[in-house]
Amino acid sequence: MIAAKAYAVQSATDKLGEWSFERREVGPSDVQIEILYCGVCHSDIHQARNEWGGSKYPMVPGHEIVGRITKVGADVTKFKEGDLAGIGCLVDSCHECVNCKNG
Ligand SMILES: [Zn+2]
Repeated sequence: MIAAKAYAVQSATDKLGEWSFERREVGPSDVQIEILYCGVCHSDIHQARNEWGGSKYPMVPGHEIVGRITKVGADVTKFKEGDLAGIGCLVDSCHECVNCKNG
């Protein structure tokens, strides 16, 4: 497991606070980054406050991340350690559901 730190809310009424947690190991198709910057926009606030329903806690608001790659999985071919990488608001996919099968 990979030790990580973030600012999180623990509930819809909680203030942001420091939070330590563990991420899974880097998989064959993953890249690990050191986060340098990320956006925090109105959608993060709505999610943190559960204003759209369905929020899960603890939650680390923020998305559209830029960082420096610190590790790549064995099957990664388009990135190498040291590259800059940007991550959009959607990451990962199951490759099995209707939305995934429709691209
Ligand atoms: Zn899917």
